[in-house]
Amino acid sequence: MKIDGGCFCGNITFEADIDPEKVMICHCTDCQSITGSAFRVNVPVAKEHITFHGGQPKKMVKTAESGNKRAQAFCPECGSPLYGAAPVADPPSFLLRVGAIRQRAQLRPKVQVWCPSRAFPRDRALNGRASAAAAIVRKQ
Ligand SMILES: [Zn+2]
Ligand SMILES: [Zn+2]
Repeated sequence: MKIDGGCFCGNITFEADIDPEKVMICHCTDCQSITGSAFRVNVPVAKEHITFHGGQPKKMVKTAESGNKRAQAFCPECGSPLYGAAPVADPPSFLLRVGAIRQRAQLRPKVQVWCPSRAFPRDRALNGRASAAAAIVRKQ
């Protein structure tokens, strides 16, 4: 599926070709802290299938509980999260933040990741509303 998007202020934009079956929600505490929200919605894309335009994103490298390091890219002007990637100069793939995609209303999450570190007690309430996304698969 062809998509496009960018940060809130328009400093950084992108065009990509994604698989809408791979849209996922992550409930880990890192995602909660970084987004200031209860969860984060992502979709993976290989570097061959995405083109960025405009400014350079700022990157913050975080270390997960597993020891994995990931670069968190965001617009240096407006702070909008854009993607996560390996912390190298030319990452092989990107985990795009679905909120940055213009066609996000058409992207229904297909997988939810419930990490042990989840902290919000609202998981059940979210599940109750899963009828809006009947295809959600729970993945432990
Ligand atoms: Zn921006
Ligand atoms: Zn997460």
